[in-house]
Amino acid sequence: MTTSILVVAEHRDGSIKQVTYEAIEAARQSSLDETPIHLALIGHELHDITEQLSSSGVTTIYSVDHEDCKHYNPEIYAKVLTQIIEQSGAEGIIFGHTTIGRDLSPIISANLDAGQISDVTAIEQTADQVLYTRPIYAGKAFEQKTFRSTPWVLTIRPNNIPAAETSENTATHVEIEYKQPDSLRTVIKNVVQKSTGKIDLAEAKVVIAGGRGVKSSDGFKPLEELAQVLGGAVGASRGACDAEYCDYALQIGQTGKVVTPEIYIACGISGAIQHVAGMSQSRLIIAINKDPEAPIFKLADYGIVGDLFEVVPLLTEEFKSV
Ligand code: FAD
Repeated sequence: MTTSILVVAEHRDGSIKQVTYEAIEAARQSSLDETPIHLALIGHELHDITEQLSSSGVTTIYSVDHEDCKHYNPEIYAKVLTQIIEQSGAEGIIFGHTTIGRDLSPIISANLDAGQISDVTAIEQTADQVLYTRPIYAGKAFEQKTFRSTPWVLTIRPNNIPAAETSENTATHVEIEYKQPDSLRTVIKNVVQKSTGKIDLAEAKVVIAGGRGVKSSDGFKPLEELAQVLGGAVGASRGACDAEYCDYALQIGQTGKVVTPEIYIACGISGAIQHVAGMSQSRLIIAINKDPEAPIFKLADYGIVGDLFEVVPLLTEEFKSV
């Protein structure tokens, strides 16, 4: 039995990431007997975010608010989070399977000597255990795992588990004093890629991804216009990143971001297994490629054989008119 579960909240520029609410729901689904759910909130100037999270259905919000925590630093965050885990007494820790979650969760698992299940896409309760589903072999198969002991650490893939509903109960807020840990790193500045816009690629409901077929950084412009009309984010294959058409922050795949949007539009992407590993769980896949034999068509729900520079602007015009 897990005494309590701690969800690690993620936020940026004063906005709470959707995956935080999904992780709270994952905590509920992981709780066999009304286990208390707490939230860890780390950052700087957290007042507004704490207010917003107070109706998220958790019992307690443990926060550490300090200038040193303004930007993510794994050494500082790991120490601060360990302090929160100790104070909350949590035996289950849940992260989003995001860039930060993927970096921080193994540090915490190692520190706690905990078992970890990563990249969970579904949770199922039986009479006496909780089963976690995760993709394996680059999304070609799924496995179900469970924890046999505590403590445990979980990361959940964004956009797969429904977000927790808001609650009428207000969470208790415990502010923990920041104790400056030794850190070999200093974050000098935080560089946010402009082309990703306001929508986080990992959480976007619509992703328009470009591959080597876009041919240049200017070739991404039609994709950006389509993304804007559909309220989506632009992503890329590693082929496009390696060719310096866009930044690696946009890379989707085995060594990039994992996305699960409602709609994924692959433009000039061949469909290599390493790319597919990062997008195969998308609800609806549309591929635009001028090669009818491109492997991406085997995966796509809809395929358009054609030149992306003709097809994408047509789609943009069409969507603008609806
Ligand atoms: P290509 O394979 O060159 O395909 C370009 C496609 O564009 C072709 O199908 C072509 O027909 C089409 N095209 C060209 N012009 C047009 C046009 N005008 N209109 C329409 N279609 C057009 N890749 C990833 O994406 N993500 C990863 O995380 C990743 N990790 C990797 C890890 C390892 C260890 C290794 C070895 C490789 C990894 N790769 C990854 C690379 C992967 O194997 C492929 O090389 C890469 O995905 C290819 O990118 P691409 O589809 O854009 O390019």
